[in-house]
Amino acid sequence: MTDPQQIFHATLAKLVRLAQEITGEVSRLYAAQTAQNGSGQTPPPPPEPTSGDPVTLCTPQTLPAGTLEQAAQLAAAINPMNAPMTGPLSAMMGLGDVLTPARIAALTSKYWGPTPRRLSVSFMETTDVELRRRILAHMNAWAVTSGVSFVYTAGTGKVRITRGNDGYWSYLGTDILMIPRSGATMCLQGFTARTSESEYRRVVRHETGHTLGFPHEHMRADLVARIDPAKAYAYFSRTQGWDRRTVDFQVLKALDERSILSTPPDQTSIMCYQLPGSITKDGKPIIGGRDLNASDLAFAGKIYPKVAPIAPSADLDDDDDDGLAVSAAAQQAADESDLTELVNKVNQGA
Ligand SMILES: [Zn+2]
Repeated sequence: MTDPQQIFHATLAKLVRLAQEITGEVSRLYAAQTAQNGSGQTPPPPPEPTSGDPVTLCTPQTLPAGTLEQAAQLAAAINPMNAPMTGPLSAMMGLGDVLTPARIAALTSKYWGPTPRRLSVSFMETTDVELRRRILAHMNAWAVTSGVSFVYTAGTGKVRITRGNDGYWSYLGTDILMIPRSGATMCLQGFTARTSESEYRRVVRHETGHTLGFPHEHMRADLVARIDPAKAYAYFSRTQGWDRRTVDFQVLKALDERSILSTPPDQTSIMCYQLPGSITKDGKPIIGGRDLNASDLAFAGKIYPKVAPIAPSADLDDDDDDGLAVSAAAQQAADESDLTELVNKVNQGA
């Protein structure tokens, strides 16, 4: 690692610790990290699944409050489309003239941008070659249509997978670049060679969707409107051990449709939870996705095309881009070395 990178990561780690001290919130990230460092603090195990109920549900991770502004800068630097809307358009949409950093960060998406890129993947635990290949193959199921692909590295990847006892989760899109390199960006609890193929499809492909920046489909307003909050609080308390705030955050708080690139709500998307009819107002279940469907693949291919747009590119990660059409070589170069430079630039306030 270069010096500026080390300084960046050290500074970021300090910021995160400070924010946590102030808020008193315990982050899974640091709980996991301290556990690895042997401090004795371990993350709480997920509750035992109740018979007949869904097993562990994914809980996508968000960055600690202290890092949101920096994450927004980084997301905007990777692709200007991630920058918050300002000016007449934002005023028209009721966003106001003045956006505080927190507001900007919340409005900023986690999109990787339209230039094809490879994201390196490493494993926190010793993982044999067959298991690595199997996990990577399921991650790359998205790459059938998407220009973002995943490649294993024996070093420290941009995507870092743990199979530790912490459930299923991933940070969203470009947020993974904000996680200290000693921490995981994705958790696939207990995945082994014996895990069923259907679980690989349901969980690995879903978590990879989060890494691509896709939020939970069941948070779409049309689907949230179907859920009975009182029933949802009781159900998730019983099956997942979640308090009301967690249920609000994971299930009941609808996504701001203005903040997302999307297709019509799709309850069979791989990004959608399976939710029982016992918690919906109409008594009908939200079917949920068990594998990538045609809409998932079409959407991924649309926002992450395999061939970069043949137009003057404003994508800042192509430092060699002189405003002309992006060459095939430049597309290939849009890999982690460019991302590393961006992290440094953001750290230096560029
Ligand atoms: Zn999820």
